[in-house]
Amino acid sequence: MNIRKNDKVIIIAGKDKGKTGEIAKVILGKNKVIVAGHNMISKHVKPNKDNKGGIQKLEAALDASNVAVVCQKCKKHMTPKIKIESNGAKSRVCRKCEAVIS
Ligand SMILES: [Zn+2]
Repeated sequence: MNIRKNDKVIIIAGKDKGKTGEIAKVILGKNKVIVAGHNMISKHVKPNKDNKGGIQKLEAALDASNVAVVCQKCKKHMTPKIKIESNGAKSRVCRKCEAVIS
């Protein structure tokens, strides 16, 4: 998976299709991501000592294949490609304009 926390992404499938956001969490091994403020679900929470319970809005995980990284330079979305620098370091670059995705 070429998506990391804090990446700017666009949702390309599902009910929030077309919306952009930032990756809040990557769930490794499950190929899922959480986009801050999107794909919200209501969850009934039982009261405990930390909260009074009730209905909470939570972000549901999205399949990583349903989001694409947005290049901050050319504003296009794509799956970043891995570029290996001459010193052996790997960086992610835009597939369209070769800008480094930080
Ligand atoms: Zn680009």
